Formats: sequence, C-alpha cells, structure tokens
Amino acid sequence: MVQQSTALPQRKRMPRGQLLIDGNWRDASDGSMLSSIDPTTEETVTEFAKATVTDADAAVEAARRAFETGAWPRMHHEARAKILFRVADLLEERVEEFALRESMDMGMPYRDFVDVIMPHCAGLFRFFGGIAMHAMGGAYRTSYEPHIRILTRREPLGVVAAITPFNFPLALTCSKVAPALAAGNTVVHKPASDTPLTALALAQVMLDAGVPEGVYNLITGPGGSLGDALVKHPLVDKIAFTGSTAVGQTIMRNGADTLKHTTMELGGKSPNIVFADADVDAAVQTAFWGVFWNKGEVCVAGSRLLVERPVYDEVVEKLARMAQAAVLGDPLDPRTQVGPIASRAEFDKVQRYIDAGKSSKTRLVAGGGTRRINGKGLFIEPTVFADATSDMVISREEIFGPVLPVIAFQGEEEAVRIANDTPYGLASGIQTRDLGRALRLADRIDAGTVWINTWHKYHPGGPFGGYKMSGYGREQGAEALESYTQYKSIWANIAQA
Ligand code: NAP
Repeated sequence: MVQQSTALPQRKRMPRGQLLIDGNWRDASDGSMLSSIDPTTEETVTEFAKATVTDADAAVEAARRAFETGAWPRMHHEARAKILFRVADLLEERVEEFALRESMDMGMPYRDFVDVIMPHCAGLFRFFGGIAMHAMGGAYRTSYEPHIRILTRREPLGVVAAITPFNFPLALTCSKVAPALAAGNTVVHKPASDTPLTALALAQVMLDAGVPEGVYNLITGPGGSLGDALVKHPLVDKIAFTGSTAVGQTIMRNGADTLKHTTMELGGKSPNIVFADADVDAAVQTAFWGVFWNKGEVCVAGSRLLVERPVYDEVVEKLARMAQAAVLGDPLDPRTQVGPIASRAEFDKVQRYIDAGKSSKTRLVAGGGTRRINGKGLFIEPTVFADATSDMVISREEIFGPVLPVIAFQGEEEAVRIANDTPYGLASGIQTRDLGRALRLADRIDAGTVWINTWHKYHPGGPFGGYKMSGYGREQGAEALESYTQYKSIWANIAQA
C-alpha cells in the first residue's frame, strides 16, 4: 500500500532535465536548453536539454545496438515481465513526484493524476507485463505432408520511436512504451516540448527498475527537427505517434521512404448525444465533465453536444449554470475543477475559436472570457455556445480547450447524421434510458469508442483508437501488441531430423 501525505502539494523548482542515451544522462551535444513553464504561475519550472539531430542519431544507434546485441529482446519473457512489474511498482511509489510534475508542466489537476492517471499508467505496465508472461507463438502441421511442421512466432519490430503530445504526457507515453517493451523492442521517446517533465522521471524509473542500458532512451526538443530525424531514420522501425492529424500526416509522408510501421492516435471532435428520455441531470454532469475535464485538453473530449429538442432548453440552462459555477484555479488545489491551459500558444488558439463562436450565429450562455488567478495564469472560462449548427467552425474543428457548441436535433436519424458529419472518428457518447436505441446507434456511429450513459472510461485492457481522420491502430488491450510485433513462420522438415 502506497502511503500518501495529506498535506497540499507545494511547488518546487525541478532539477535540470538531460537526455538519456545508452543508459547515461547527458546534455545536448551543443549545450542548448529549453524552459518548462508552469501555466498557473507563468514561471519557469526548470530548464531541459534541447537535443540536436546528432543526439537523436546517438539515441537511435544506442537503441539499435541494444536491440541487435543486447539482452532485452533475447531475455526470457518472464524476466522481461518482472522488470515491467517493477516499473509499475516504482511509478506508484513515486506518484506524488509525478503528479506534481504533470500539474506544474501542463496544469493537470493533481488529484486526477493521483486517483486516475497513475493507476492507469501502472496498470498498463502490469497488463502488458502479464501478456509478456505468455510465450507468443503457435505450432501447426500441414494436412498434405505429415513430416512438415510450422512454428509461428511473434517477434519484436526493433527500434520504436514514441512521439507524444502535450496533453496526458505520462499516460500517452506509457500506452506506447509498455507494449513496445513487453514485446522486446527498444525505445526512443520524444515528448512534446511543452511537457517533458514526467518523461524525464519515467526514464529514471526505467533505469531504476533494471531496464538494460540502451533499451530506453529519451530525447527532448523540437518536433520539427528531432521528430523528423526519428521518422526518417533508417534504423527506426516504428513510429508510435499521438498528436494532431496534421503532424500525423507529415509523419506518414516522411516515413514512407523507409517504410515505417506507424500507429496514429490523432485529433477528434467527438459527439455527445443526449436524447429526451435521458436522465437529464446525469446527462448534464456527463456533458460537463466529458468536455471540460482537464480543461478540454483531451483528444476524446465530448466537444460537440447534440441535444434532442424536447429537453434542449433544460439541458442548455443546467449546463450553463454548471459552467458558470465551475471553480477555476490552481491544479494543485483539490477544489479546482478547471485548471490553466497548458501553454501560451494553446491559450491564444482557444481564444481565437471563442472569437469565431462569438461572431457566428450562436448564443453564448456561459464563459467566453479569460481569467487570472492571483494575477497570474492561462485560464479560460468553461464556454458554452447554444444554438450552434454542424457547419460552424466551432462545431467542425478541434478546439482542444474548454469550449462547447450545443446543437439541437430531433430523432435518431438526425442524431446519427450530425454525429457522423465530421472528418474525425475518435469517440462518441449516447445518453438515453433506452438501451436498445443506444446499441442501435452504437452500430452506426463512426468512432473508435462509444460511451453509453457515461464518458471518460478507460482501462489498460480496453482497445483505444480512432476511425477516419482520428487515425488507425489501437493502444491498450491485447490488440495493441499486434502493432509492436511481426509474425515469423518457421517450416521444418522433421523427416530428416
Ligand atoms: P502535435 O503538435 O501534433 O505534437 C505531437 C508531437 O509531435 C510532439 O511531440 C511534437 O513535438 C511532435 N512533432 C511536431 N512536429 C513533428 C514532425 N514534423 N515530425 C515528428 N514529430 C513532430 O500535437 P499536440 O498539440 O502536442 O497535441 C494535441 C493533439 O494531439 C490534438 O490534436 C489531440 O487530439 C491529439 N491527441 C490525440 C490522442 C489520441 O489518442 N487520439 C490523445 C491525445 C492527444 P513538439 O512538441 O516539440 O512540437
């Protein structure tokens, strides 16, 4: 049982961040540094290394060596699993340090990290460690030649480059790294430049858990140069990417020459459909947290609310009241419901979308402004635009902030039509007391996840990923291991044995 202190967490200056290459912490080859800024205080939390392409090459070469000649891919799968279980234990032991880093780096609510995110992250290492406990392969005979035996084996791909976004930095790293390592791959991780702090702590956990040198490498710095170097590198076998659809497309183009394996976890504009027969109060709660959790910086945010006409006014009114009453503040304070936007660039972008909403034919019923708490911070009020339509910019584009357009509909056909009227297909939700209707609609909505009378449910065993422009491939679940392995068939003539 992990003991957690009851005192409120205190901000502190974090240690300088370095690169982890071949088991050694080191500065960037040219000594360059970047700063991590706390969006609550707008002060510098620490500096961290701005890796060069030379550093990216060194990290990839270390990972390649560890894969070609090191113990990790050859280790008995039970021994590998034991190390992954140790990673899970260490993550839990260090939960308060990780939570503080995530809150100071990107404004993640501290309590949510402790209660939800870390159990999920540790669970990922236990889940994939558990799978690694099973030998991955089979044996068959042919029907036509009894002396021929076929042995099938799933082998690791090689070097996996994990490129992760600024939101949920630890969780989205673990969802790649746990299956990659379980399958015997080696890893180079490049986190988002705005949020490197938990990646640095995770790399130290890897060392402390006994992951051999070179198996886990971390480079921090700009996606434009480092991301490019990883994606084009001939010694990298797979890019496991989470981020925007635009960068995903660039990665696919840049990876084509070296025929990279890729998984793409991209953007979303997920419809949350409230039918008139729903429990309205519960549906309002679900709609509020569905879009405003983590200040809307969630790929699967329920960022389009579709409400059936008979309950439209009631839902809008109750939701607006809840949004107006939301507590904005320091993510370290457990009373806070909505923390600051992760970075100045995102803060400015979200405001541009709010301006677009204000200048279209909608009704602003909550929010629409920015706030300073104690004279500081990148806070945006939970914002609700009623009477939106499906063709408006705020209904079509991913805002990635606390902004919700509400669209009216009547009946199942119109609900499905509006829900699917988007290039994205990440998540969706149906709020109704009629389970038959919910399951009927679940069949027809083009999205990788459908939540019924709930939102934001995740489990290491539940496959997660997108349809359409939200990407392909699945993270979590046994299915995820498929994309970190390749099959080999060995044909043996035992007549000569
Ligand atoms: P982003 O701008 O696409 O960046 C994601 C990562 O890619 C960062 O590490 C970034 O580095 C790097 N990168 C940038 N340019 C690159 C290039 N040319 N080659 C290789 N890597 C490059 O996304 P973001 O703003 O951090 O994250 C928000 C987006 O992620 C949203 O669209 C959200 O929906 C999506 N997302 C999807 C999921 C999912 O599971 N489907 C989950 C979470 C987030 P720098 O930070 O250094 O630029």
